[in-house]
Amino acid sequence: MSLNAADRDPSADPGVDFYRFANGGWLDVAVIPAGYGAWGSMEEVHTRNETVLHDLLVRAADDPADDLDRMLGDYFTAGMDTEAVEAAGLTAIQPFLDTIARTTSHADVLALLPSLHDNGITPFFAWGVTVDHDDSTRNLLWLAQTGLGLPDRDSYDGTSDAAVELRAAYVHHVAAQLVNVGTEPEEALELAGGVLDLETRLAAHQLRAEERRDPGRTLNRYAVDALAELSPGLRLPAYLTSVGAGGIETVNVQAPDYLAAIPDVIDVTDLPTLRAYLTFHVVRTAASTLPAVIDDESFSFYGKRIEGKQEQKERYQRVLAALSGDIGEALGQRYVAGKFPPHAKARAQAMVDELLVEMRRSLETRTWMAESTRGQGLEKLDSFVVKIGYPDVWRDWSGLHIDRTSYAANRINATRFENERQLASLAKPVDTTEWEMPPHVVNAYYHPVRNEIVFPAGILQPPFFDPDVDDALNFGAIGAVIGHEITHGFDDSGRRFDKNGAFRDWWTEADQAHFTELAEKLVAQYDAYVAVDDVHVNGRLTLGENIADLGGVVLAQRAHARVSAGSEPIDGLTPAQRFFLAYATVWRGITSDELARTYAQIDPHSPRRWRAVGPVSNLDAFQQAFGLADDAPALRTREDRIEIW
Ligand SMILES: [Zn+2]
Repeated sequence: MSLNAADRDPSADPGVDFYRFANGGWLDVAVIPAGYGAWGSMEEVHTRNETVLHDLLVRAADDPADDLDRMLGDYFTAGMDTEAVEAAGLTAIQPFLDTIARTTSHADVLALLPSLHDNGITPFFAWGVTVDHDDSTRNLLWLAQTGLGLPDRDSYDGTSDAAVELRAAYVHHVAAQLVNVGTEPEEALELAGGVLDLETRLAAHQLRAEERRDPGRTLNRYAVDALAELSPGLRLPAYLTSVGAGGIETVNVQAPDYLAAIPDVIDVTDLPTLRAYLTFHVVRTAASTLPAVIDDESFSFYGKRIEGKQEQKERYQRVLAALSGDIGEALGQRYVAGKFPPHAKARAQAMVDELLVEMRRSLETRTWMAESTRGQGLEKLDSFVVKIGYPDVWRDWSGLHIDRTSYAANRINATRFENERQLASLAKPVDTTEWEMPPHVVNAYYHPVRNEIVFPAGILQPPFFDPDVDDALNFGAIGAVIGHEITHGFDDSGRRFDKNGAFRDWWTEADQAHFTELAEKLVAQYDAYVAVDDVHVNGRLTLGENIADLGGVVLAQRAHARVSAGSEPIDGLTPAQRFFLAYATVWRGITSDELARTYAQIDPHSPRRWRAVGPVSNLDAFQQAFGLADDAPALRTREDRIEIW
């Protein structure tokens, strides 16, 4: 990994357009490859990983060394066998379609929900298990809002031309899929219009993306008898028994008002529309495993309209993505054996330690912070669990049936297996060795209830991380990512959880007020950025990520300045310049307009350009690195610069 001069634009002024200065050469020649809605450093690493994973799967299919290989190879072989997929037709989903067709009352429709949910088909709402926000040694069942075929509530009440057109296209898509599973074409369009109306009524009661970020809204514990009163029509105690969670005492309800509203929405909907709604969601969920006529129709709406892709990815890439979702850790187990040597893990651990030192200093030096808040913040930091590369304990797959005959059946089996694993965890203490992402993914996370930062081997690869290059490149790239995840523990949401992961207020009122004032400035900074055309970034939806981006680059810059003191320039660039160039390189990217619109609505991360230049516009160290004037357009004015951590 290195900085490539051709990727920059030396004619650009870093004080005017730092994104172009750092990435102009790359941006001028970049194209979004077929199959992608966006292209940049993330996708480059992802595609490189895919090649490695593909080889692993081909080998596992041809010459399995053990049971794990056999499972991976069989899943992959069934997924690649398009002839078998065509020949199977609707076999895998026919039982669901038949039971839906047989419903003769609204009560019948509700009675189907436990079995649909168990198979990963989630009309109206869904259940899942996660760590309890009051006691992180226990697990807790959640009831979450779901059941919309468009990206979010905003898609249903948005008034822009793009939103109106998207809804019209959705109706045609729903109609086409209904026809594909046997509905008469004359009826399909009217039924599809009814489905949109039904989902619009549901959406009106759902939390918007920015509201779902607020744990104060989504953490709502209900005893099971109170749950019965919340939404009598849903008969939730009986529902819980049916899904296999009959013994539990409390659940968390993500959106109580929504759950309470569902029965009334169902009541005013006629039975044919309800059947069409359930049928469409069965098809939507299973589309990738069904014949091409259905899979292609799904792509033409979700791939093209929602994600701005021109063509489907290669079949192997799609099967690989499905496999990563269903049994990803099994594949990751094979991946890390070849792609994440011990010295890489040791170097990554050392970097995490350097970044934790900077977060500690940051907590120690916030002049506005009361000693009680500071003390508890430091305790929280010291309690961070750090996971690097891959899990210490691998998941046990015994009992999961995967074979080469049916891709659709394999996917359903994997969903049910995962559901059973989650249900079983309700009766056990939390497994602290668990990972919530497979180790080969290009991503990382902070988990507030587990109070842990997790860095999969998949992101610990060039251009994010290379154990054999100079500090500037590693700190500018993966260092900022590590700092980002650490900062999440102290962003507007993460700060509300304590050192044990409990949702508990440990801030003084004055500290809270001060933090909120700083955060509001960041909301305003990002609200002013354009995402695409007339659509602005939603500074409130992206607040947590923007705090983490700002904290990430600040902490990484400080750590790098400390470890690189006295280092010589390389290729005429100082260590500090190389640091900021590496940072901007990670966030170079181009995005289709369709995907940019979708992301603006639902993605809590800002568009990449703003992830690169938004945070550094607040940094004195950035100004100094490039010798910029105080009033350089790439900088915020001195009085407006924001420093939270
Ligand atoms: Zn983040």
